[in-house]
Amino acid sequence: MSPNTDFDVIVIGSGPAGATTARIAAERGLRVLLVDKKQELGAPIQCSGAVSAHALGDTGVQPDDEYIATPIYGFKVYDANGAAETLDYRTLKPGEYNRSPLGYVVDRRRFDRYLTALAERAGVEVWLKTEALEYHANGDGTANVLMKKFGQELTIRARVIVGADGLQSRVGKWAGLRTHIRLAELASCLQFVMDRVDTDGLLEIITGHEWAPGGYAWIFPRGRGYAEVGLGVARTLTGKDARWHLEHFIRHSFLAERLKDARVLEVQGGGVPLAAPLKQQYADNVILVGDAARHVNPITGGGIHTALRCGQIAGNFLGDFLPAGLPPDAENLAEYQRRWMKELGEAMWKLYRLKREIFRQPTAERDRMLYQTLAQYFSPRSEFRKV
Ligand SMILES: Cc1cc2nc3c(=O)[nH]c(=O)nc-3n(C[C@H](O)[C@H](O)[C@H](O)COP(=O)(O)OP(=O)(O)OC[C@H]3O[C@@H](n4cnc5c(N)ncnc54)[C@H](O)[C@@H]3O)c2cc1C
Repeated sequence: MSPNTDFDVIVIGSGPAGATTARIAAERGLRVLLVDKKQELGAPIQCSGAVSAHALGDTGVQPDDEYIATPIYGFKVYDANGAAETLDYRTLKPGEYNRSPLGYVVDRRRFDRYLTALAERAGVEVWLKTEALEYHANGDGTANVLMKKFGQELTIRARVIVGADGLQSRVGKWAGLRTHIRLAELASCLQFVMDRVDTDGLLEIITGHEWAPGGYAWIFPRGRGYAEVGLGVARTLTGKDARWHLEHFIRHSFLAERLKDARVLEVQGGGVPLAAPLKQQYADNVILVGDAARHVNPITGGGIHTALRCGQIAGNFLGDFLPAGLPPDAENLAEYQRRWMKELGEAMWKLYRLKREIFRQPTAERDRMLYQTLAQYFSPRSEFRKV
């Protein structure tokens, strides 16, 4: 650590990306402060919580009943008319997946708290109810972050600031990075947690412009007899809002009979970027991770796995970079993005180009391509299995 800083790294935002960056950086011997403006992490829930087992395993997170709502054993992908491809790994790969699930639906309140606890146990200093208000690069290899902690303003100095502050990232804007997202690439998502919906350990994905223009609908098991029924739509492809589409799907789709007795227990929603990763994810004293850098799968909208993986890449990068003593200016921090590109970014860009190709098509062809792409995407032969 340089002598005139309070911390080597300040991570702003303790979602999956920030908590993982902070944990790995601390494991690599850095002094890390992790702040989040919330008093209860992960709340209100704005996520369905589906995450693969390998995403957890690859980033050193043990499956734990503390945060797992229910295990997942495969997928069922429907076309617009209800024909479906079932990829149940209990039958595709018996034995292996009977013992250990393919993935989980996690409770984001408990998951985010769990990841933050892992960071804290690795030596990270964690401050909740602490909002970053602005940062200033001092020009001497350090930066100051102005924060409000329990209502009191204070300034903390560090060498690198990690913007892990989600889709609406202000850190990226403060750094002057081009974070604008086109409305056409922002899915407006809504889900109901519902009682009285039968599920069988599969993530069900329903494609078709009729049900979810610009996105897809889903039914995910939630454990304890509950299910998450939701969808994401692109507002540029419909004059109606996500709520209208969700009710239309529940009442009029080919699954309406199955959903007719379902009752709403919770309403959750939020935006998902189905966009390209940011072209530049670094600036003087700053790097961005997770949703803040658009590290989101542009076809599925899944961002937990990519947040965990990018957090791991960022934490390891900082663990190599900071002890070497180079100034953390934009030129030197560009190496972070080069590493990310090699390890994950190239595959994400490939997915983005595929997504663009699908959404360039007229409606019927788009429906066909999206269905086929998602059915292949989740198959054991998929080249994107680890994205
Ligand atoms: C309806 C919906 C369903 C989804 N379902 C899935 C799914 O099933 N599977 C999946 O993989 N992905 C899903 N996603 C996407 C996933 O939720 C995100 O990609 C993921 O949460 C990104 O993690 P993150 O750590 O980058 O950001 P976030 O989880 O958004 O965390 C950002 C954190 O930063 C904090 N913060 C923000 N600004 C400041 C500040 N100024 N100071 C201090 N703290 C700040 C916030 O309080 C927050 O805790 C879904 C998203 C939505 C909206």
